[in-house]
Amino acid sequence: MRRHHVAVLAAFLCASAGITLAQSPPGALTVIRAGTLIDGASDTPAHNKLIFVRGERIEKIADASAPVPAGAKVIDLSSATVLPGLIDSHTHIFLWGEDPAKGGYDANILFPALAQRAARATVAVRRALEQGFTTLRDLETEGAGYGDVGIKAAIAEGTIPGPRLFVVTRAISSTGGYNLEGYAPELDMPKGAQLIDGPIEARKAAREQLSHGADWIKVYMTHRSWVDRAGNLVSQPTLTVDELRAIVDEAHGWQRKVACHVYGGIGMQRALDGGCDSIEHGLDLTDANIAQMLRQGTWYCPTIAVYYDSWAPADTPAGRRDRKRTELHEPSFKKALAAGVKIVYGTDIGGIPWSEPEAVDFDYMVKFGMKPMDAIRSATSRAADMLDMKGEIGVLAPGAYADVIAVSGDPLGNINELKNVRFVMHNGATFKNDLAK
Ligand SMILES: [Zn+2]
Repeated sequence: MRRHHVAVLAAFLCASAGITLAQSPPGALTVIRAGTLIDGASDTPAHNKLIFVRGERIEKIADASAPVPAGAKVIDLSSATVLPGLIDSHTHIFLWGEDPAKGGYDANILFPALAQRAARATVAVRRALEQGFTTLRDLETEGAGYGDVGIKAAIAEGTIPGPRLFVVTRAISSTGGYNLEGYAPELDMPKGAQLIDGPIEARKAAREQLSHGADWIKVYMTHRSWVDRAGNLVSQPTLTVDELRAIVDEAHGWQRKVACHVYGGIGMQRALDGGCDSIEHGLDLTDANIAQMLRQGTWYCPTIAVYYDSWAPADTPAGRRDRKRTELHEPSFKKALAAGVKIVYGTDIGGIPWSEPEAVDFDYMVKFGMKPMDAIRSATSRAADMLDMKGEIGVLAPGAYADVIAVSGDPLGNINELKNVRFVMHNGATFKNDLAK
């Protein structure tokens, strides 16, 4: 599918001509008939409910027997399963895949003009929304500067359709801690993140990013990884504890949080000691790491599927690393799950092409032992809690934004039903309805 993704995206664009984008007049009432209702918070689904939507928000939820006021618009999803809009807590709208045959990661930065990258991001956010992801935490633009702030503003002003975005802008790593790499040392190559050295530069970078609209700060706590002679996965640490503490201190002062890309080892210990709010990937979690995450209330965004994508040949150093990463990731996830770590759904999509289904991680989470309802909560109410939006998104309840999706089957029986979202409402506006009778 990766190899054909240009053609697939062309098909999305054509198909999108048939998508409805209907915003009801302010104050108008829309009533959704829900056959099965998974509210994003409860342990069990409800049946035969009415969701009353007024403006951008849910006004109330009632039994199907409740009267529907004359003049209300009724959307009949009585044979479907209705859920809150999904939240992907780890995306890259400015990344267009990392297929080695297409030049890998570097091709994203070296060839397309910024306008081309913005056009791609415009397609990516639309693609997320049509799959039922009504909120994204987009974890850095990969060399596209503050482009995510611009895309977020374009969505907010109604110029382009897209989900609610939480953006981090440029991300922060250290010298030697991010791509582009491997070019002649005489060349001053662009980097996919803002590189700093020392706590003063770290704080300054955080201040710059926050002042230009970062909702979160993203840092890299490990960079390269390889399998050593003893067979262990080793990850090069990047920021020091002092550098990270300066960033976390600055971000927390703005009531913002810090997401840390980290695999394991020294970088993981620094990430936790430095006060990271969310661990991204966390491939190699020790019992002590997990205990510290529980003590500190750290979130865990595992991004599983992306590590099964495009392995290098088995008999190469990169191939050994790719296999070792998944070998460690599964038990790390299972231990964190058993210990009660707060796990949120994230895909790293962009690293895998946007033509892939964004619901790709649910299957892995369930295969690794998470109950389907918990997997759904990791992409709804639990992610909302991490984003300080509890009760406002990720839940179908009075007062919440009317982000409502539906699938025709039962996602508790087959979690992959979430790969086929048939109805999408975002902020009270119907974006897509393939279930209309
Ligand atoms: Zn990522």
